[in-house]
Parts: sequence; structure tokens; C-alpha cells
Amino acid sequence: MFNLKPHQHIIFLSCLLVLCHHQKQTMKIGIVGFGPFAQFLAKTMIKQGHSITASSRSDYSEVCKHLGIASFYRDMAALFESDNDAILICTSILSLKQVVKSMPFHCLRRQTLFVDVLSVKEHPRDILLQVLPEDSDLLCTHPMFGPESGRDGWKDLAFMYDRVRIRDEALCSSFLQIFSSEGCRMLEMTCEEHDKQAARSQFITHTIGRILSEMEVESTPIDTRGFQKLVQVKETTSKHSFDLFSGLFIHNRFARQQMESLELAFEKTKQKLQERLKEEQDISMINHH
Ligand code: NAP
Repeated sequence: MFNLKPHQHIIFLSCLLVLCHHQKQTMKIGIVGFGPFAQFLAKTMIKQGHSITASSRSDYSEVCKHLGIASFYRDMAALFESDNDAILICTSILSLKQVVKSMPFHCLRRQTLFVDVLSVKEHPRDILLQVLPEDSDLLCTHPMFGPESGRDGWKDLAFMYDRVRIRDEALCSSFLQIFSSEGCRMLEMTCEEHDKQAARSQFITHTIGRILSEMEVESTPIDTRGFQKLVQVKETTSKHSFDLFSGLFIHNRFARQQMESLELAFEKTKQKLQERLKEEQDISMINHH
């Protein structure tokens, strides 16, 4: 067809390969639940050239227009019919069961990769495995960052994932590339391991932040570095919805144990101080007599 010399053939084929590879990585992604975190993720996906559609309980058509997303559907059926490679579930932890119940799986046009980004992992894994069509793959993920910590890019931020049911390896790795190509630290682990570790780290951080907020802790002119960090924890955690925080507790079976450890540790610490106070009072009584 083309009158090319052998070396030109090689260059032509290489260009074609690069082009195919590039095209393969560009996906059609339908997002279910278009709250703050979904909007934050969508910005980077759009920048990477993916084609995004969204659906949510509230009307985000203006936000979508602003972000350059062509279609926003109030009706999830329209999103399911729109031939997506992947459907990304970004609803709150507490509403997941209800949202999944109303998913019109019969409208899917083809095998689809389902991905969730909920901050607990066993809960969505169990619910989705019960209801997804047999030919749909499932990738459970938790980007360990949000609009605050990921404001200036995702480099070196942790991204947890569990390939719960993957048959289309190419599609799954294209999806993971959204995060690896931004420089995220990609951490593969089971949903159970995630929930154990997140209860000890993220849930404790949010709980301490909420306690500090209840105490109305504020900066003072004589803040130490340590205290500045505490104020920062209070401020970042209280920017998240209370739905998110309560979801971390209700749907992570390891969180209850952490709450008990926290209470116990508080009591022990208080008791140690009270014992020392009593010793000091006894000494001063003896000295007085
Ligand atoms: P969120 O309060 O956890 O979730 C808000 C989303 O849930 C919105 O899309 C909202 O829809 C939807 N929703 C709430 N109740 C609903 C109901 N009864 N029926 C249908 N939809 C309902 O806030 P978020 O920060 O955007 O988090 C979204 C998900 O990402 C959560 O699962 C969270 O754990 C996860 N995540 C968040 C972060 C973060 O930094 N924020 C980081 C990693 C993972 P409408 O807005 O349409 O009402």
C-alpha cells in the first residue's frame, strides 16, 4: 500500500504500536456518586484523556459542564447503557448498599470493570461480589489521599488496591495506570489487611481530629510544632463529611476494637496522672506535718 523502504516500515509499525498502546490506555469511565472525592478524581482522569460520564443523587450537571464532562445523568440506567470500560463507585460508605441495590446491571452493554474507592474495603467487596454480573470484574481500591493532601499532585501518595476478581488484565492495568502514572505508591493488599491497618491509622486520625474539634481546639500565639500538627489534624479531618467518618466506624469491623483501645489508653493515662498527683499530695502532707 505504502511504498516504504524496510527501515521506514519499522518506524511506521513502531508509531502504530505506540498509537495503539496509547489508545488502549484511554478509557470510558462512568462515575457513580459525584461528590467531592469523585470530582477530585475526575479532574485528573480528564487531564489524562479519559472520557468521563457521571451519575449522582443530586444534580451535578453544572459542575460537570464546568469540568468538561459531556454527560451527567440523574438516571443510572443511562450511565450503565453508555458503554463504559469501567464503572467507578464513589458513593458514601453508608449509602453503598442502597446505591448498589438500585444499579440497573441489565443495562450494561458489555463486560465491565467495576472499581470502588470507598475508605473501607471488606464492606464494598462483600456487597459487590453478591450483586455484580458474573462476567464483571471487580477491583477494590482506596486512594489514601483526598482533595487536601492531593491538591498539588499525587506523587508518592499511597494507592491501595485488591484485584478481587480480575479476568481482563489489560483493562485492570489500564485503570491502575491512572494512579501509577501520576507517581502514586501502588500497594497491593487484601481488603482485610487494608481494614486492619486503616482502623489503626486512618480511623484513629479521624477520631482524634473529631475529639479535638469537640474540644474546640484552636491555635494560640505560643503553639509548639506538635500542637500545630494537632490543629492541622483537627482541620483536615473535620473537612470530611460525618457520613465518611461514621462509615469508617460502622463498616470496618476492626474499628470498634480501636475505639475500645483508645478509651482504655485514655483511662490508663488519666489513672497514671492521678496516681502521681496523689503521691505528690501525700509527700506534701508529710512535709507539712
Ligand atoms: P461522602 O460523604 O463519603 O460521599 C458523598 C457521595 O455519596 C456523594 O456522591 C453523594 O451523592 C453520595 N451519597 C450520600 N448519601 C447517598 C444516598 N443516600 N443515596 C445516594 N447517594 C448518596 O464524601 P466524599 O468525600 O465525596 O467520598 C466519596 C467516597 O470516596 C466515600 O466512599 C469515601 O470513603 C471515599 N474516599 C474519600 C476520600 C476523601 O478524601 N474525601 C478519600 C478516599 C476515599 P450526592 O452528592 O449526589 O448527594
